[in-house]
Amino acid sequence: MKADFGFETKAIHAGARPEAVTGARVTPIFQTSSYVFDDAEAAASLFNLHNFGHIYSRLSNPTVAVLEERIAALEGGRAAVAAASGHAAQFLAFFTLLEPGDVFLASRNLYGGTLTQFGLSFKKLGWTCRFVDQSDPENFRRALTERCKAIFIESLANPGGIVGDLEAIAKIAQDAGIPLVVDNTLATPFLCRPMEWGADIICHSTTKFLAGHGNSLGGVVVESGRFNWANGKFPALAGPEPAYHGLDFFENFGDFAFTTKARAVALRDFGPALAPMNAFLTLTGIETLPLRMERHVANALAVARFLESQPKVAWVSYAGLDSSPYRAAAQKYLPRGAGAVFTFGLNGGYAAGIKLVESVRLFSHLANVGDTRSLILHPASTTHRQLTDEQRLAAGAGPEVVRLSVGLETAQDLIDDLAQALSAAE
Ligand SMILES: *Cc1c(COP(=O)(O)O)cnc(C)c1O
Repeated sequence: MKADFGFETKAIHAGARPEAVTGARVTPIFQTSSYVFDDAEAAASLFNLHNFGHIYSRLSNPTVAVLEERIAALEGGRAAVAAASGHAAQFLAFFTLLEPGDVFLASRNLYGGTLTQFGLSFKKLGWTCRFVDQSDPENFRRALTERCKAIFIESLANPGGIVGDLEAIAKIAQDAGIPLVVDNTLATPFLCRPMEWGADIICHSTTKFLAGHGNSLGGVVVESGRFNWANGKFPALAGPEPAYHGLDFFENFGDFAFTTKARAVALRDFGPALAPMNAFLTLTGIETLPLRMERHVANALAVARFLESQPKVAWVSYAGLDSSPYRAAAQKYLPRGAGAVFTFGLNGGYAAGIKLVESVRLFSHLANVGDTRSLILHPASTTHRQLTDEQRLAAGAGPEVVRLSVGLETAQDLIDDLAQALSAAE
């Protein structure tokens, strides 16, 4: 695979080659739990991480490996490790970065599930997340402490269509000697390439636009290969690892030490492996990612413009609109479009939001994004229910807010459906 092939070519070919035994052109679903060793010595060298090869599908699988290589290529990263879901990918990333007692900073503008994962469940592991208002990147610098080991943001924040200043935030992380971790789920590498702006690690929920058809969960962690783990802050990456006879991952694996450790320790010991069937569906989805994202963006813009013209709509927060305060940042970081997930507010508040989601016919009322089908959600009564009023407002999920994930149907049909649902929401 030539590194200078175009994005569309990589989306179809990166990581894949005709299967060696049968010549099958499409990557097969290697539906196997384990792999036969050549001999005892080969087995020992695999277990010692002296040689790379498949042992057991909790650690690696040939179908999953193609997906890992493909997403790493699309992000311009060095290597990747897949997981059973986006949340599992985030867990693998932070387990590899943090020790009990460590701290990391995260933007307040995050997917609701991530706010609870970071704010509540991670706390039980001894990891503290401090949430920061990302509208001023300097807020991250001000919140840094000695034990702070990472900064986490979403390139295009869910649910508000918010775009932060990636380059400035990456610079702050770099000055502090800590990695910038970016959740690139809603943008996908077709719209945004965080590593070109200084991100060190990327997480995805492949469940969304990468798989793209609402049929399989998955996640992935990608590393840039450029971070210096031997700066004294990351003994788990550059130091003896007790789980591997004192192996130093950074010394041995260099620019792919992070994902090797995430796989060899976190994935091995906690087990959220991606099923080969889901890897296959995600690979198939990625083949059409560029085409789908272009249409997602065009449809989202048409729907957003329609909503902006409606008297019952108080505001539309879509970074693709000229009215958006994130328009300039979107043009810089997402030059091909601001994605297809955004929110709008109804003058009628909470009650109008509920009425609208119950009145649509073509949009599906459900908690997902990044499907071929158009989806609608009222965050305050669903995904952001567990949060306090203050957290909901900070996350852009107030009572009047409705979230759309605009799909690939005929744009006019989507507009007609919203028009009839808005008039039903009297
Ligand atoms: C869905 C989502 C996640 C979590 O991913 P799962 O695959 O549902 O575990 C994380 N971040 C963002 C931005 C998401 O949309």
